[in-house]
Amino acid sequence: MKVYFDNAATTPMNLEVVDLMANMMREDYGNPSSIHAQGRLARTKIEEARKKIALLINCAPGEIFFTSGGTEADNMAIRKSVSDLGVKHIISSAIEHHAVSHTIEDLEKAGLIESHMLNIHPNGQIDTQHLEELLKTHSNVLVCLMHANNEIGSMIDIDHVAQLCKANNALFQCDTVQTMGHYAFDLSKTYISFLAASAHKFNGPKGVGFIYINHETKITPYLTGGSQERNMRGGTENVYGIVGLAKALEISYTNLEADKLRIDILRKYMAEELTKTIPGILFNGDLDGRSLYTVLNVNFPPSPISEMILFKLDIAGIAASGGSACTSGTDVGSHVLTALKVDPNRPSVRFSFGIQNTKEEVDYVVGKLKEMFVS
Ligand code: PLP
Repeated sequence: MKVYFDNAATTPMNLEVVDLMANMMREDYGNPSSIHAQGRLARTKIEEARKKIALLINCAPGEIFFTSGGTEADNMAIRKSVSDLGVKHIISSAIEHHAVSHTIEDLEKAGLIESHMLNIHPNGQIDTQHLEELLKTHSNVLVCLMHANNEIGSMIDIDHVAQLCKANNALFQCDTVQTMGHYAFDLSKTYISFLAASAHKFNGPKGVGFIYINHETKITPYLTGGSQERNMRGGTENVYGIVGLAKALEISYTNLEADKLRIDILRKYMAEELTKTIPGILFNGDLDGRSLYTVLNVNFPPSPISEMILFKLDIAGIAASGGSACTSGTDVGSHVLTALKVDPNRPSVRFSFGIQNTKEEVDYVVGKLKEMFVS
């Protein structure tokens, strides 16, 4: 049996999206900047994609800019806030994705900003009181907090954080790479300055994403060059990727609530079965609280096979990912689990679910883990 439980890393592409993109690659090869019919057709497809996305997340099409993915969108939001919007302080957390944390570190090293890391509860939830205190005592602030953590699944209360930022005149950058296509967004109600999204996390193609920039947030071009993306990002557009992204988002929105319900049941079922089967098992994150329904981060008891779990799972045809807390500053373990002070002697594995997963697959994985951990 082959089981893919690494959907937080990337998702398999929806076949309807594959067909749409393949047909376009065969037929519609025009450059969207060309003025002839083929060029105009490509331009129309991009603008239709933009409108579709804007309609789904309830913002204006002019607030969407296509990028090469989540990393670029995160970089653009953070770097432009500093260079164009006078940001001097960045409030963030130690469990952000490296696309955010390394960008902040880079800017701090260059002496351009001072960063402030929020206290985090052991279940991965941020200390909102600390956020409020920092917001009240600093000005020219950008808050960078991810909607859902890609390793442990803990989620912020996005509306609450947005309200706090607005009330304190701070910009808010939210990495929604793990939640776009999995949760409904209404950006007319949630006040966010920048939002980052990536197509390959919702059954779309890799190497394409978008940044939402609130119309009140005015920045200068990120990539200088041609006048693509209304001068904000020069370079011939990834037309096929953009069209595939919009289609994948549209499909995920059609089935959003049903998929969410089904996958959540699957995740809870796996947690229960593992608890029954393997003595001493724990779960990293906020399993029964505010958590991404696609991520189950399992914390196994110390075992002689600790270093071998992912390898053994791979041999059994199971794709998952892992990373334990670091024991020393030089270890390249998980920065998230280290920040949460998870015992480094207990190995952790992230199982992340997608629309294609079944209960039979969960049973198969639990059976294999039982063979490994229960003699
Ligand atoms: N942010 C989060 C939370 C992610 O999980 C990822 C990808 O794993 C990224 C950003 C980077 O996105 P991309 O692969 O599209 O650059």
